[in-house]
Amino acid sequence: MSNVKFYYGENVPLEMHKVRIVQKLDLVPIDRRLEAITEAGNNTFLLKNRDVYLDMLTDSGVNAMSDKQMAAMMEADDSYAGSETFTKLESKLHDIFGKKYFLPAHQGRACEHLLAKVFVKEGSIVPMNYHFTTTKAHIVLAGGVVEEIFIDEALQVDSENPFKGNMDIDKLRSLINTHGPEKIAFVRLEAGTNLIGGQPFSLENMGEVRKVCDEFGLMIVLDASLLADNLYFLKKREPKCKEMSIREITREMADLSDIIYFSARKIGCARGGGICTDSTDVYMKLRELIPLYEGFLTYGGMSVREMEAMAVGLEETMDENMINQGPQFIAFMVDELRKKGVPVVTPAGGLGCHINAMQFLSHVPQTQYTAGALASAVYLISGVRGMERGTLSEQRDEDGNETLAHMELLRLAMPRRVFTLSQVKYAVDRIAWLYENRDLVGGLNFVDEPQILRFFFGKLEPVSDWQVKLVEKFKADFGDSL
Ligand SMILES: *Cc1c(COP(=O)(O)O)cnc(C)c1O
Repeated sequence: MSNVKFYYGENVPLEMHKVRIVQKLDLVPIDRRLEAITEAGNNTFLLKNRDVYLDMLTDSGVNAMSDKQMAAMMEADDSYAGSETFTKLESKLHDIFGKKYFLPAHQGRACEHLLAKVFVKEGSIVPMNYHFTTTKAHIVLAGGVVEEIFIDEALQVDSENPFKGNMDIDKLRSLINTHGPEKIAFVRLEAGTNLIGGQPFSLENMGEVRKVCDEFGLMIVLDASLLADNLYFLKKREPKCKEMSIREITREMADLSDIIYFSARKIGCARGGGICTDSTDVYMKLRELIPLYEGFLTYGGMSVREMEAMAVGLEETMDENMINQGPQFIAFMVDELRKKGVPVVTPAGGLGCHINAMQFLSHVPQTQYTAGALASAVYLISGVRGMERGTLSEQRDEDGNETLAHMELLRLAMPRRVFTLSQVKYAVDRIAWLYENRDLVGGLNFVDEPQILRFFFGKLEPVSDWQVKLVEKFKADFGDSL
């Protein structure tokens, strides 16, 4: 029987866990927040956590661990080679994905680095439903080109399409026909499509991609980092999956994939990553790179304690009552913001609540980093740290021109099982206030712009004194309140 719906009232999610360890938080006054965001060059990546109230930057490595995960960490076997911990993790992955081989790597992007090194050559093409920042960077670094073949509705912010992460099958076929299958390194499917708002693809769509790949002799590489969310949505939205267990759906997706890689900073509520495959050829090609770039084959750069926690976390991911926690909190936040008129990505996805900055700040041009400006303003008025997902996260083209992003989103990630509902309500209230005062928010300009992955380290300044004016209005409305 499906337990996916654990709600009371109209939309209030029920936590299927209790909190047994806590971390103290501070909410520093707005004057300090203005100093902090200025010191950070208006880049939320550069804020210090002591200045942050709710850290909604990412879901990476910050999901709450269970008591069982913590207990398992005590049992870790430190042996450099042949560690019992590795064997345990390997057999758990075998149990879940059914693949013969497991190659450990220190995190998701390390897997991407290795896959790009082995399979992407100068001029290679990698079709995918949508890119992820580190994925694209590694493919481009290896001389390849990313081709995104999403469905038209993928970029429609306000939508009722349950599977905006689907691949457009006709476009996939015509892309392969145009370039020839020999040019295609592999076809990549990203579960819980990160950059378009944590949107899932359907099992049916994956089956269709498989058919096309079989026709042309191509591999499917599944990025399973956000698989937990995708699984939840399949169970909830795809008729065929309603009668299947999470474990059965997972196995069916794995059977459709040639290579599965993941960031265990997301799936498994630990820190690490790895690659699974049935192909001896693929395994042998990748194997020699593991000791070179990651660490010996039985730890791959990971702490054995994290590997123990990962094995337990992966098992817990097979429980609907665990994987529903993120998406249900996100749905609550999206619903509440919508009621207050704030433009958000719909349907609510996994990973976090995504605010449509393009509409929120329709007066701020993309060349002034609309979503980046919103991230800075939200931190300033709430102490909530989100992440820009828009033009700032893109790279300039060869001539130095801006590559304007398809969407300007502010992502407020919902680390799994971390925040309480009143904290989410606080974030909603402050963002609604900002929406009413949105005319006060202006854009940003770079003062220090790195060439690669500039969003991590870049520093920006406001185009005017808009932040000072925003602080004045905040104080007029809230008085001495934080
Ligand atoms: C986070 C993420 C990665 C990269 O994983 P890291 O562990 O952060 O290196 C890759 N793909 C997706 C979809 C992700 O969300």
